[in-house]
Amino acid sequence: MTLGVLQRQFTLMLGKLIIKAYELGYELTLGEGYDDDGVGHMKGSMHYIRLAQDLNLFKDGVWLDKGLAAEKGLISFMISGMNLGARRESPKT
Ligand SMILES: [Zn+2]
Repeated sequence: MTLGVLQRQFTLMLGKLIIKAYELGYELTLGEGYDDDGVGHMKGSMHYIRLAQDLNLFKDGVWLDKGLAAEKGLISFMISGMNLGARRESPKT
């Protein structure tokens, strides 16, 4: 499989992930995607090869940082290369 094939599959899966997040009542803004300068991310980062997209997660207009989202058990997003998925857990009350 070529890098170009992976990049195109990643883009499709990212689109599906974004749609799923909105279906679950969340909103997103885009963070960093492709990074062509080779600095700012860890060595070997998928950002350098167009296989990463940072997303900012919001619920009811409130930004959920990683800690808050995990603490509330609401949702976790994992986008790492082609290992992309969304998991929704039962909210803690
Ligand atoms: Zn990132």
